[in-house]
Amino acid sequence: SQEVMDTFEKEIAKNGLEKEVKVVRTGCFGLCEMGPVVIVYPEGSFYSRVKADDVSEIVSEHLLKGRIVTRLLYEEAVVDENEIRSLDEVDFYKKQKRIALRNCGVIDPEIIDEYIAFDGYKALAKALTEMTPEEVIDTIKKSGLRGRGGAGFPTGMKWDFTYKAKGDQKFVCCNADEGDPGAFMDRSILEGDPHSVIEAMAIAAYTVGADQGYVYVRAEYPIAVHRLQIAIDQAKEYGLLGKNILGTDFCFDLDIRLGAGAFVCGEETALMTSIEGHRGEPRPRPPFPANKGLFGKPTLLNNVETYANIPVIINNGWEWFAEMGTEKSKGTKVFALGGKINNTGLVEIPMGTTLREIIYDIGGGIPNGKKFKAAQTGGPSGGCIPASKIDTMIDYDSLMAIGSMMGSGGLIVMDEDNCMVDIARFFLDFTVDESCGKCPPCRIGTRRMLEILERIVEGKGEEGDIEKLETLGKNIKESALCGLGQTAPNPVLSTIHYFRDEYEAHIKEKR
Ligand code: SF4
Repeated sequence: SQEVMDTFEKEIAKNGLEKEVKVVRTGCFGLCEMGPVVIVYPEGSFYSRVKADDVSEIVSEHLLKGRIVTRLLYEEAVVDENEIRSLDEVDFYKKQKRIALRNCGVIDPEIIDEYIAFDGYKALAKALTEMTPEEVIDTIKKSGLRGRGGAGFPTGMKWDFTYKAKGDQKFVCCNADEGDPGAFMDRSILEGDPHSVIEAMAIAAYTVGADQGYVYVRAEYPIAVHRLQIAIDQAKEYGLLGKNILGTDFCFDLDIRLGAGAFVCGEETALMTSIEGHRGEPRPRPPFPANKGLFGKPTLLNNVETYANIPVIINNGWEWFAEMGTEKSKGTKVFALGGKINNTGLVEIPMGTTLREIIYDIGGGIPNGKKFKAAQTGGPSGGCIPASKIDTMIDYDSLMAIGSMMGSGGLIVMDEDNCMVDIARFFLDFTVDESCGKCPPCRIGTRRMLEILERIVEGKGEEGDIEKLETLGKNIKESALCGLGQTAPNPVLSTIHYFRDEYEAHIKEKR
């Protein structure tokens, strides 16, 4: 992409077009499978898999002569030589609704004016000058927004708890410690639209009465960290962070804290312990962060995607947001679509879209004409959804009902060639590695489960192993201290539930 960008700049200068054509580097536009992507405005021509060698043709044909280079267009957009579909009409995008991702792939994330031009910081101004904290909380509550980090707790209620908590100082935090294998939703939002998170955190701080915020982001996301820092500096320069924001009494500062790669630091109490400078280990709840969080003070913690929804809810009103989705799951959800699927990438769908629509309509189906076997949502905390449940609606409650969970948004597709026991082993191996070791059910129990799984996969499984996995899994779920341990057995239990025959086949093979 960098090479393509550099070549565009050179070619544009060579042809004397610098005054008419601006090259803008944006964040991810979602269709990663087709990258690098170049979109030429105002036509909206969507060139895919562009190489540096293609650039001179786009410049000489399209920019100079106004002739679209059909051979380089995303093929789904081309009906024939005379008819080009707009992006809203191609299969990948037409069932999507980009709200959290609204500016990704559109604006230059390193220029605050571009964010402002797309209604950026309007919601902050509205909240500060036209709304009381109670009115903001009421709006978020009525919108039906639930936490996008995984558990789906009602966001407005969380804000209300922190608002009502007593304390001489309060904090707001953003969980950007996205660690699920295959998940990159939060990374893309921070890389493509960091101001949306900063604006939302400022609104949250005004609402709950906080004057300091932290974004806890993993150090493995250097571009996200870099752009976030630029955005924070620009917001300070524009008087949108710091003292007397927009001429009001409201003061709020925001800093970044880097995580060092521990998956458990995505758990809220571990995250705060890590910000405090200690080893990132969870602690029992209650007390909940709303009452006793960072440095023992009332703290509001939401994830990146949750925050990215806030400014548009404030601008457009709760009714607008609540119209989308299902009865108990409102709005949209971003998924990182990966595995055995034609269109890998980032998709944002209204809640209530079925898994079939995601896989076949948006994802373009399974490569090489293979059969869909299962999808894993929620990463190592989630469960597998078998082909028989492909018409399940994607919302918090429907996924829970079939033994999976929304999770933060990783969606990995498997075809007929995947061994489900091996998939379960992969995820459990990950959680065993990431267990912080504080409580025995997780530290010891998941390791014993992994040993059993390994011997089954290696053809050394014994009669009774499946039952042992079930008993251990259920016990760990009930007794582990934090969400990591409580959900670690999910991939194993759900694959046993739906694909028991594969476990049995491995064990029989041995005999
Ligand atoms: Fe640590 Fe696992 Fe216990 Fe969580 S469940 S506190 S990760 S050992």
